[in-house]
Amino acid sequence: MAAPRTLLQDAEAALGQGGFGEARGRLDELDRSVLLRLSRDDSRLEQLRPYVFYRRALLARLRARGVRVGPELLRALFAAGSPRLILLVTHACQLRCAYCRVRRYPGRMSPQTAEAGIRWLLGGLRREVELQFFGGEPLLAFDVVRRAASLAARLAARAGKTARFLLTTNGLSLPDAALDFFREQGFRLEFSCDGDYSTQLRQRRAAGGRDYYARLARNLERLRGAGVDYQVIAVLTPENVGRVEEEFRYLAGLGHRRIQLNYALGRFWNARQEAALFAGMRRVSELAGELGVEFINSSSQRREPVVLNSELTVDCDGEVFRETGVCLEEDFRGMKSRFLVTRLGDAGLFDAHASTQFDNLALLVGAYGRGRLRRILLNNLDLGLRFDRRPPWEDA
Ligand code: SF4
Repeated sequence: MAAPRTLLQDAEAALGQGGFGEARGRLDELDRSVLLRLSRDDSRLEQLRPYVFYRRALLARLRARGVRVGPELLRALFAAGSPRLILLVTHACQLRCAYCRVRRYPGRMSPQTAEAGIRWLLGGLRREVELQFFGGEPLLAFDVVRRAASLAARLAARAGKTARFLLTTNGLSLPDAALDFFREQGFRLEFSCDGDYSTQLRQRRAAGGRDYYARLARNLERLRGAGVDYQVIAVLTPENVGRVEEEFRYLAGLGHRRIQLNYALGRFWNARQEAALFAGMRRVSELAGELGVEFINSSSQRREPVVLNSELTVDCDGEVFRETGVCLEEDFRGMKSRFLVTRLGDAGLFDAHASTQFDNLALLVGAYGRGRLRRILLNNLDLGLRFDRRPPWEDA
């Protein structure tokens, strides 16, 4: 693999001459090259710092040279970014999950903030965008969701663009009106349920300790028959990793046909727990075929290492942050101040805030380069890289 400096010079030359395809190839290679260097040795951050968000400096140089900066050049330059914007519509939630960071801080998004976020996303370069509604529990602010998605669909149609919608829910509040709306608008739902009664209630307690499981099961059953595109997502922790197969069987037994298993980030996985995770995933991939269930981890590209994924997220107060550190840091406000990007209104071009896995790793190493969180970060990174190199279900 060529040196980063050479790749950057080649990309700059190609962009200056209108060779956008070639430039994209060089930039991809550069992103992979610096990621590899930093993930092997995180003490190289200072040496690699010139490559953190290097696209902005590159754009400034092209402008200074008098190169015409049109949409095609910008698309080539920022192609690596995600087409998704997350709206964190409320911090309120009925649950008190052990791993939650968000709900401790009150907040609810105003229609004006939601609209500003949508206009920002749709004002970008992409013809296909995705809007994700998140919380807290977003269905506690269903009025905000409905209004925002209706507006996004209208504005996208007017601009000749496509807007897709995704909502992540704990499933405790699922009014019929919401199900009708999701069906009409083609929403995809991520329904969080960690497994059977004892697993779910141990990891995800209700406020006041109420037993809510019957309600959750009823709503899952309603969703199953509602004609809405959904998948169930269960989080595996070092504590319940020995039950991977049982939890998967349990969820499949309830009739759900699309199931995803996420390993918990922000937790340290020792060698024994990692081995159990890999073995469990392998068994589940075989079992899924027998049960006629789509094991999402096998069928669609989960971008590993997950700890380096990041989306631009609009908080209730209009601040935009990268969700990069949200799984690692318990203090949501502290995390937000470290990964703050901009405020809606001063945000500029949506696509220009794109980050690569390398950018995210550099930010994380900069923020958590020592102590307990460094150990967890490197552990989660290593786990994700092993998934990326050879998913355990391909070993069989
Ligand atoms: S359901 Fe989500 S927002 Fe609510 S407590 Fe659990 S993790 Fe936090």
